[in-house]
Amino acid sequence: MKEAFKAFVDTIPAVADAVQLKETFWQNGKQIPGGEKTIKEVEPAQIKDASDRLVRFASYLKKVFPELEATGGIIESELKAIPNMKEFLNEQYQADIKGKLMIKLDSDLPVSGSIKARGGIYEVLKHAEELAMEAGKLKETDDYAVLAEPEFQEFFSQYTVQVGSTGNLGLSIGIMSAKLGFRVIVHMSADAKQWKKDLLRSRGVEVVEYADDYSAAVDQGRTNSEADPMSYFVDDENSQNLFMGYSVAGERLKAQLDTQGIVVDEDHPMFVYLPCGIGGAPGGVAYGIKQVFGDAAHCFFTEPTHACCMLLGMATGLHDGISVKDMDIDGKTDADGLAVGRPSAFVGRVVEPVLSGIATIHDEKLYDLMRGLLTTEEQFIEPSACASFAMLIRPEDVKAYLKAKGLEHVEENIVHIAWATGGSMVPQENREEYVKM
Ligand SMILES: *Cc1c(COP(=O)(O)O)cnc(C)c1O
Repeated sequence: MKEAFKAFVDTIPAVADAVQLKETFWQNGKQIPGGEKTIKEVEPAQIKDASDRLVRFASYLKKVFPELEATGGIIESELKAIPNMKEFLNEQYQADIKGKLMIKLDSDLPVSGSIKARGGIYEVLKHAEELAMEAGKLKETDDYAVLAEPEFQEFFSQYTVQVGSTGNLGLSIGIMSAKLGFRVIVHMSADAKQWKKDLLRSRGVEVVEYADDYSAAVDQGRTNSEADPMSYFVDDENSQNLFMGYSVAGERLKAQLDTQGIVVDEDHPMFVYLPCGIGGAPGGVAYGIKQVFGDAAHCFFTEPTHACCMLLGMATGLHDGISVKDMDIDGKTDADGLAVGRPSAFVGRVVEPVLSGIATIHDEKLYDLMRGLLTTEEQFIEPSACASFAMLIRPEDVKAYLKAKGLEHVEENIVHIAWATGGSMVPQENREEYVKM
């Protein structure tokens, strides 16, 4: 371990647990009431901008992805109650969940089957819009369905989009960019599953494989892209565009809760559990949620014990100045969507005043939770997504948090939402393997 970091192990109990690879919970002492109003790096107007852009693209998306017909070109997932899973968690894990347990099925998001269908697709669309507008080929008031015409395919084919990915980001960027007509190069880390590489190649995407971890794939992608003036790099370590694409989930969630008659306010708090890799997806969603629900919403990130980079970054305050390797943690996890060793350069700082805390979970439990959800609710989600239950199976920490926030008297009114971040694109044979693990 780096000498300079040893003091953190002595002073922060959650960091001490983390380096011993123990499951733990870190409560964020910097969270403050109304914290969302203090965030300076991004602003609510950017959520509106992203949301409006997605509306402009809806007619195009509906045209090129028939599965979006039903929603008029809006990429959104179902929110549903999972009472049988609540029973499973209470019985198998003594979770003692008292309120309502729901799941947000980003695992079934159309087009790319993971939460990346929010941020990743958004950033590609934004880039395409900018290029087309600069070339004088598109105006905001146009019907964007024209982007499906061969003329635009040809136009975009002069340009390259590149991204580094552990898998799902590559899928979303690759599928969307290829559809628009871009040349696409996805730099895949060693953790990426074979089927994801195969699927991308089948859609005409160039996949470059690395024996090294995620940061290496990102670095190489960035370097390649910078050398080519016609190339655009989707930078997961720094991208505000990805973040804003994810943040639109907040207002969408509000609309779904309203439709289902579910009240979220001070007396009916909402607890949201978001699996975290580099932080962009859970950070963006949490930011969007806090802007809509304020203090009624409590957002938790969840990470694998072997890739707890955001916990290290936020608990030490070093953010991207620390990696799991600095603490002799190997970064190896079956939760490929979360296999990230160094957190985003900006997300931890943005969510510092609003995030409730971070829970970690062992890989073996992810499979057990997967089977539990499949058996009790007939819902398949991938291992990474099962991390969304990490906090829910730590009743002592939940109770301590409720006490600290003065919420014990409303415990029974809580709406718990496990954000299932991926799954529908996992091939049948891989599902069967997972279920046997
Ligand atoms: C990418 C991903 C996450 C986390 O997103 P980050 O932006 O990397 O934090 C969670 N779950 C799944 C399935 C993912 O693919």
